[in-house]
Amino acid sequence: MESNHTIMDIFGTNVFNDKAMRQYLPKSIYHELRKTIDGRKELDPAVADIVASAIRKWAIEKGATHYTHWFQPLTGFTAEKHDSFITPPRADGSVLEEFSGKDLIKGEPDASSFPSGGLRTTFEARGYTTWDCTSPVFIREDAAGPILCIPTAFCSFTGEALDQKTPLLRSMEAVQEQTLRLLRLFGNTTSKKVTPSIGAEQEYFLIDREKYLERKDLIYTGRTLFGAMPPKGQELDDHYFGTIRQRIAAYMKQVNEELWKMGVPAKTQHNEVAPAQHELAPIYAEANVATDHNQIMMQTLKRVASQQGLICLLHEKPFAGVNGSGKHNNWSLTTDDGINLLDPGRRPHENKQFLLILACILKAVDTHADLLRESAANVGNDHRLGAHEAPPAIVSVFLGEQLDEILEQLMSTGNATHSLKGGKLHTGVRTLPDLPKDATDRNRTSPFAFTNNKFEFRMVGSRDSIAPSTVVINTIVAEAFADACDVLEKAEDFDAALQDLMLQYISEHRKIIYGGNGYSEEWLEEAKRRGLPNLPSMVDAIPALVTEKSIRMFERFGVFSEPELHSRAEIKYETYNKALNIEALTMIDMAVKQILPAVIKYTGTLSQIIESLHAIGANADVQTELLTDISSLLSEANGAVKILREVTAEAGTIESNEKRAHFYHDYVLPAMEALRRPVDKMEMLVDKEAWPMPSYGDLMFEV
Ligand code: ADP
Ligand code: MG
Repeated sequence: MESNHTIMDIFGTNVFNDKAMRQYLPKSIYHELRKTIDGRKELDPAVADIVASAIRKWAIEKGATHYTHWFQPLTGFTAEKHDSFITPPRADGSVLEEFSGKDLIKGEPDASSFPSGGLRTTFEARGYTTWDCTSPVFIREDAAGPILCIPTAFCSFTGEALDQKTPLLRSMEAVQEQTLRLLRLFGNTTSKKVTPSIGAEQEYFLIDREKYLERKDLIYTGRTLFGAMPPKGQELDDHYFGTIRQRIAAYMKQVNEELWKMGVPAKTQHNEVAPAQHELAPIYAEANVATDHNQIMMQTLKRVASQQGLICLLHEKPFAGVNGSGKHNNWSLTTDDGINLLDPGRRPHENKQFLLILACILKAVDTHADLLRESAANVGNDHRLGAHEAPPAIVSVFLGEQLDEILEQLMSTGNATHSLKGGKLHTGVRTLPDLPKDATDRNRTSPFAFTNNKFEFRMVGSRDSIAPSTVVINTIVAEAFADACDVLEKAEDFDAALQDLMLQYISEHRKIIYGGNGYSEEWLEEAKRRGLPNLPSMVDAIPALVTEKSIRMFERFGVFSEPELHSRAEIKYETYNKALNIEALTMIDMAVKQILPAVIKYTGTLSQIIESLHAIGANADVQTELLTDISSLLSEANGAVKILREVTAEAGTIESNEKRAHFYHDYVLPAMEALRRPVDKMEMLVDKEAWPMPSYGDLMFEV
């Protein structure tokens, strides 16, 4: 950004947003398109042609030569294929630039190489991308020049979802429909649209690119597979919210500017708990737009890093021994006339609509705790969830004192008559103003926490799309609303029925509420007593997708069909297996080609030193002790490599993806740990000069 440009000058300049639409489209076409975007009318092909030609004009003015359908297949990444605007050369050798309504609306990537979990065999490889006009078209600038990106959904020939976006859009419709039903019961006749709003806080690590290139584990797996802890970790809490170093600040500046241009409202940035860890949060947006924003954000974080000699690590656990990275999914429901349905208002105890919504959410989360847990399961997150930093692998809800107290009143007397107030915060310093205080403190250890006027789901992994967890939240809430409406719409005495239903939901599901320390041992015990599911690993969590309860719900609201759910479970097992296989092979490769040879060389040098000391009759006790220690670790590591090789090979022979995943989890993972242990100990004994790769200290503290 040139110094005389303000955020307002550049924000959204690369987005075909409402302002650009008004400018480039004839008025009548603009209104037609608006109807489609608002979900009131399907897009007319004739309108699409005019829209496409306006978008082409806009994009070409911005220097774009290519367009791409930008989609989110089940690889965990976004996918794109670039086409230029060029037409076949004419007789005089010149070309035109063209972009039709069909080019805008429909793409047909060769879909056979994307994961489908058995939904599609390669001989029926057709897949279609279709324009999601509710998420605006934008231009991304990178080394390939400006590219017109069209957010799309990706489906198979038979209409099954092969991506993250299709179920997300379906779940948004489901929750909208059920919320409107509920609002009508409370006499609301004006709200026409309800959308889940999402704000996704993104954590990441930044390290030096040169050092990264010396670590095969980071290159192949995104995390370190070896590495002894440096003398200092995160114990001083001096990095968290610390002053941002100049190199990092310059990076953040460029990231922000690029995001602003693409319409991503980057808002808050700070250093996180672990050394070299940072966070960036945007202002929230409608769920599908927020999902796209988060993908754009992750891509931009990575791209700008490599331009500046840095590497952005989005893995959930790049370094053992310090915190990993997550993504907080802040969720609320908003109407088109500006009502946030999760806002308790000033007198929550009197806000019956809010209390019913709250009771429904408790029911939803309690009934589908396993599914919510599953929505955050990915390979990297297994190193985080339940490891005393991120939320535990047990789902619970934190409401805070104010709401806890209201539920208490409801349960004991059937009626809530007052709400706790925030009061004033007294600092004890006369020159500091007394601040109004929130009615409720925070609980940072809760996986699903009420924060003022939204729920914050804190389990999601840093690398994951926020779509799967949003799909689950939307759908389980839609189900709870639907169940409530089924009862209340038939009630003769609405107030009495409402009261009964709220009390019933709260008493049946209050076991999901927990306000204590989610990282503690007591909670594990307590949760077990309450019968809450504890699914420590991804392989334990995947079956939640295909329980009868899950299938029934997703089919009822048209979010997933049973085959789609099975395919997703299959893809997750497959992904787990592939990731673990790569990790195991990378460890073997590093051990055999780098670490063991380096240590062997070092022990050779040591024995020579010992020999020459002995030759002159000098004392070599220290050197001999060191040699003995290292040699014994060397032999342990060598044995561990052999075992890891064997179990990895054996895993490859198991036919079923599910069984194979359990085998990786039960045998390969422990074999990896058994190799890491002696190697990390050797790193602490061997001369730094002799160690074949940068240490944790080099990676985390010398950025
Ligand atoms: P907190 O202090 O609770 O973490 P912040 O104000 O820092 O809250 O916001 C965290 C994220 O939540 C941001 O991305 C923000 O835009 C988002 N957010 C704020 N209000 C809402 C809401 N009503 N619905 C969804 N997301 C929200
Ligand atoms: Mg937060």
